[in-house]
Amino acid sequence: MRKRTPIIAGNWKMHLTSAEAIQLVDGIHYGLPFPGEVEVIVATPFLSLPEVARHLRDSYIGIAAQNLHFDDQGAFTGECSGKQIKDAGADYVIVGHSERRQYFAETDEIINKKIKAAYRNNLIPILCVGETLEERETGEFSAIIGRQLAVGLLDLTGPDAAKLIIAYEPVWAIGTGRTALAEQVEDVHRLIRVSLAFKYGGMVADAVRILYGGSVKPANSRELLTLPNVDGALVGGASLNAPDFIEIIKSID
Ligand code: PEP
Repeated sequence: MRKRTPIIAGNWKMHLTSAEAIQLVDGIHYGLPFPGEVEVIVATPFLSLPEVARHLRDSYIGIAAQNLHFDDQGAFTGECSGKQIKDAGADYVIVGHSERRQYFAETDEIINKKIKAAYRNNLIPILCVGETLEERETGEFSAIIGRQLAVGLLDLTGPDAAKLIIAYEPVWAIGTGRTALAEQVEDVHRLIRVSLAFKYGGMVADAVRILYGGSVKPANSRELLTLPNVDGALVGGASLNAPDFIEIIKSID
């Protein structure tokens, strides 16, 4: 019996037109009408989000955006706010994905503002943390993840922290086909839970879902998802294929 309801979240990144997105979620639904004790989420691009959200209104699949601006409105050409994302039908938002940190210069300070914007707009953040290959090899990874959590979650209250979803995504395992070893994953997940316990107490730390992300696929999902501190997965590439995504959901026991 699991302590926390697991989550399988798909990150579609900058893929799929609205029509393709509808076809994919229909494929998931027809292939898996009753998912069991698991929350399923898809993180759509902004443009397909409203249509997918309308289409999934009575479904078990929840909707996330992949990013948000930290203000609720203003002169920020090309951006979307938490208020607009909530209005479009999402209940979750990915914050601090490594691609945003790497290509869009998002710092932990910006990510902290985005986390606050998410809560202000009733969106549950999925905070991504993780180290680069160099940080793994030099052994700095625990300090890096500690800083990502400390700054990213600055000023967050205990009740808000309990609702948080964290995704541990080693940058070197994203889209590379290279998965972290089960032992490396469990070590970091335990470290994250211990640092949450230190900051917010054991009850909050026990409530937070910590997902693993980085080349999760049907061939490795069962091993990763049975680790004691792994509460699900954030899936990139394999979430674009309904049968693969279904297999990953089914590997939650
Ligand atoms: C991701 O983008 O969050 C991710 C984990 O991608 P992939 O599964 O393709 O490595």
